[in-house]
Amino acid sequence: MRSNFKTDKMEDIIHLLPDAVANQIAAGEVVQRPASAVKELLENAIDAGATTVQLVVKDAGRTLIQVIDDGKGMSFNDARLCFERHATSKIRKADDLFSLQTKGFRGEALASIAAIAHVELKTKRAEDETGTLVLIEGSEIKEHSLTTTADGTSIAVKNLFFNVPARRNFLKSDNTEFGCIEEEFTRVALIHPDVAFTLYHNGKLTYQLKPGNFKQRIVGIFGSHFNDKLFPIEQETTFIKISGFLGKPECAKKKKAEQYMFINHRFIKHNSLHFSVESAYDQVLPDGTHPPYFLCIEVDPATIDVNISPTKIDIKLQDDRVVYGFLHAAVKKAIGEFSLVPQLDFDYNTELDLDNVPQGGPVRVPKLTLDPTYNPFKSFANPSRGGGGSYHPQRPTTAAPDWDNFLKEIHNTELVSEELPEQSVMQFDESPATNIQEVDAFQMFQKRYLVVKLEEKMYVFDTVRANERIIYESYLQALKEEPVVVQQSLFPETITLKGSKAELLSEIKDDLLKLGYDIEPISGGNFAVNGTPHNEDASDVQTLVENLLDDYQSNMMSYRAEREKNLALSLARQKKSVMKPLTALPEVNNFLQQLFSCLMPSITPSGAKVFEVVELESLFRQ
Ligand code: ADP
Ligand code: MG
Repeated sequence: MRSNFKTDKMEDIIHLLPDAVANQIAAGEVVQRPASAVKELLENAIDAGATTVQLVVKDAGRTLIQVIDDGKGMSFNDARLCFERHATSKIRKADDLFSLQTKGFRGEALASIAAIAHVELKTKRAEDETGTLVLIEGSEIKEHSLTTTADGTSIAVKNLFFNVPARRNFLKSDNTEFGCIEEEFTRVALIHPDVAFTLYHNGKLTYQLKPGNFKQRIVGIFGSHFNDKLFPIEQETTFIKISGFLGKPECAKKKKAEQYMFINHRFIKHNSLHFSVESAYDQVLPDGTHPPYFLCIEVDPATIDVNISPTKIDIKLQDDRVVYGFLHAAVKKAIGEFSLVPQLDFDYNTELDLDNVPQGGPVRVPKLTLDPTYNPFKSFANPSRGGGGSYHPQRPTTAAPDWDNFLKEIHNTELVSEELPEQSVMQFDESPATNIQEVDAFQMFQKRYLVVKLEEKMYVFDTVRANERIIYESYLQALKEEPVVVQQSLFPETITLKGSKAELLSEIKDDLLKLGYDIEPISGGNFAVNGTPHNEDASDVQTLVENLLDDYQSNMMSYRAEREKNLALSLARQKKSVMKPLTALPEVNNFLQQLFSCLMPSITPSGAKVFEVVELESLFRQ
């Protein structure tokens, strides 16, 4: 350790602090509570290449924090040297900071911990015959000797803050402190699913995590109910890769959601990146709720600075805006794809929600619970959203909408959103309520847009898009449970298809029958249309089927959609425009009822928004 520096001039008053004191001061930044020591020790174990890491904690870390790993261990000398400040094996020169592959690099964690606790280190490299024992208390080496021990490293930190009573007194209840330890443990364990972890608290096995993939690790930590709460995100360009899992909108929480973001395998806290994720959900979530997410971002280490705080969880990005935009777009895209093509859970093979399209009947309560008071326009202008509100629909008044202002609002909104990268073109909106009240006045605009007033807000529905959503879900149901009734034709029409289209039609003809189309191959590319859906205009089946097959084929490529959903989507797209303008109140109420009985009323299965909400108050403002 550094020797005390003495001056011979009595009038000089500056002196260097002894190492023990300097380390104690540094410890104030690095080790704020037991959980901070846990984080540093776990990260050292990972950096040492461990495949199995055990964490043993007593009294929420007050009396003991021990980390045992099977990593590469340390030599006799290194075992002593690692407690020196700025002693690290991870970087040699400042430049190395920008090509970091390790968690640690500041070389101050062990020095800090040793300054404020009793530490027992046992370590052995596989190539050495014997291991090393080091005992150190308040920076003072008490023992440095050979010992027998397993390959790897065990560091036991006892009586944390024994010489810093102020810190000790500031510790919270065991519950809180252990909660913080669990959180640190979770952060490290999540992003290293290939490493086995165990956590014992007061002799009790609290976590036992087997090596596996990321999804299995999430489920291992948070429980099997997470298995069907998530959908994957995967997006890559030459400079950034995003992967991981996002929570389904219906899993959003009012309180703390499970939100984990990692950059280059390091847990980070980054407000604007966090906001870029949450805002991508904006229009599918009620106000004041937060989606779970588990995101792994990989960028060139040269483009981030992780050395801006001693705890290394804050980072600086060279180009915030690009990462922000990309992340935002990737999350939106993933949400859009999920709503269109719910993925099968590849690990556990459980089907996701959209597969369980509810049974028929007049009113089905949609899964999405969304907040009607949230105004999407406001959210574009002002990122911080207020708290949620309750839903008390009022009778509509007779005030006529101010179209000029309304269109201006929409226009402004689009201008703002244009700043986002191209991938983010999909827009979502929220639904007014789970249990839609009847309206008693409405307006149609351009024969397509339905305007109703609920509470102090104006809702404008694109009825064609709404129709796409409604029929998409009804087709899914027809495919699974209740086939559409076929109207047999007396004089079957013949249609002709070429090559792959003819093959495809033969392949999906059984499913088409469930949707009301009874089509049988005759010869070559000729098919007889023996029946069409009951109660439907059956004109021009040739064009309908051709367009349907075109769409089906391109969905197959762009969405890897499974057969039934693809068919439902393709047919819904062909049929959406048969939506007739709504003319009478009962029709309107029936339409709203149908839409809000859907699982995802706010977006079409192709990801376009179904309605807009405008606060009336903002319409009449200048
Ligand atoms: P840093 O991790 O920033 O290098 P630390 O104070 O945490 O600083 O650790 C100092 C050094 O001690 C590390 O660089 C590493 O060489 C060694 N070390 C610490 N923990 C372990 C471990 N569990 N296994 C092997 N080596 C370790
Ligand atoms: Mg370290």
